[in-house]
Amino acid sequence: MKTNDIMARLRAKYPGENEYLQAVQEVLESVEEVYNQHPEFEEAKIVERMVEPDRIFTFRVTWVDDKGEVQTNTGYRVQFNSAIGPYKGGLRFHKAVTPSMLKFLGFEQTFKNALTTLPMGGAKGGSDFDPKGKSNEEIMRFCQAFMLELWQCIGPDQDIPAGDVGVGGREIGYLYGMYKKLAREYNTGVLTGKGSTWGGSILRPEATGFGALYFTQNLLHKAGKDIKGMKVAVSGFGNVAWGACIKATELGAKVVAISGPDGVCEIPEGITREMIDYMLVMRASNRDKVEDMATKFPDKAKFTPGKKSWSVPVDVALPCAFQNELSEDDAKELKANGCICCCEVSNMGCQPGAIHFFQHNGILFAPGKAVNAGGVATSGLEMTQNASHISWSGAEVDAKLHFIMDSIHEQCVKYGTQPDGTIDYVKGANIAGFMKVATAMLEQGTV
Ligand code: GLU
Repeated sequence: MKTNDIMARLRAKYPGENEYLQAVQEVLESVEEVYNQHPEFEEAKIVERMVEPDRIFTFRVTWVDDKGEVQTNTGYRVQFNSAIGPYKGGLRFHKAVTPSMLKFLGFEQTFKNALTTLPMGGAKGGSDFDPKGKSNEEIMRFCQAFMLELWQCIGPDQDIPAGDVGVGGREIGYLYGMYKKLAREYNTGVLTGKGSTWGGSILRPEATGFGALYFTQNLLHKAGKDIKGMKVAVSGFGNVAWGACIKATELGAKVVAISGPDGVCEIPEGITREMIDYMLVMRASNRDKVEDMATKFPDKAKFTPGKKSWSVPVDVALPCAFQNELSEDDAKELKANGCICCCEVSNMGCQPGAIHFFQHNGILFAPGKAVNAGGVATSGLEMTQNASHISWSGAEVDAKLHFIMDSIHEQCVKYGTQPDGTIDYVKGANIAGFMKVATAMLEQGTV
């Protein structure tokens, strides 16, 4: 396999699908050497098959807004790979959603899910619906209209969606309500991220952020450092950033910056529990403004418009918002301000130039598919509870999540340790995930 040849073919076939092409390139570059040591992979054309989704559903979603006007959006479900388990991955509601974005996310999800040690294939879905400024009733009507089409494509042993950007517990509730009406069955396990009174896993809302901090703690520990007392910058104020702030604070770090599309809030004394709770109010308001934190807590938080969290001096950077949110210039600014570690919590949160800069300037870096896998891993635990009609306590789920994150870190170390003793977490995560999926595909024949 030659990465350049495959990329040239994909670029010609999918012009303009930049996020998808970026994600594929990163994985292929990482695995090329190992892949070429396995002629049986080459013979079965594993890579050529793996970069194409199994299928993509595209559908129209029509709904009525509060003014009585008819609105039309496009809905998608990309079922990427089912070699190691049923399709699994979140739904993203965001105005910038395109097939390219969902293909990149579905591709990444396939390897991430493989790393969790649980039997889950990869998928992603969503819509170009923009939740910003929408009322609760509009969100509900949109979710119901979206499910009118999606329900035909999913099932507890077939494809299990969950949340992602713009889709949290509230949206999962509305989606499930309509699913139940259409399917006429109480298939609890068809969605994850459900409410805790109706089959949801305790700790699923916190899981992505908690898992990311367990991973970061392991990575720092391996490098002989302790997160306690470190200053942390987080981007975003959604579900993932919220969980990351809780656990970082619990572990003795100080979260000194959060951000939004409007700018950054600096919190010199570190975020407090009251402020962390307020992040949930900010998200539910659909205003998408981090400035609201400084308005609510003027003595603790200072808002600067147009700036990112990466302009604030910190030890650890945790991108928790959106793909490509951290550029090479941001990476340089972080380094100049003394940053020693960046753990990507968002999917593909760092641009390739930023990753290259981190890796060549002694800054510890780990990719999203390893760092944020605790979210989908806890979804996997939710599926297990649903299938066996039981419910675990928060402590039980947390212990399992911690164990899974430790094991993901170990896999990265196993496959990513370089001859000079340093650990390339990008290679480690990609090779570990790839080998598992490739082996399963090989064993299942040419399908
Ligand atoms: N959207 C999350 C992710 O990127 C969670 C997916 C899930 O729980 O299925 O992994």
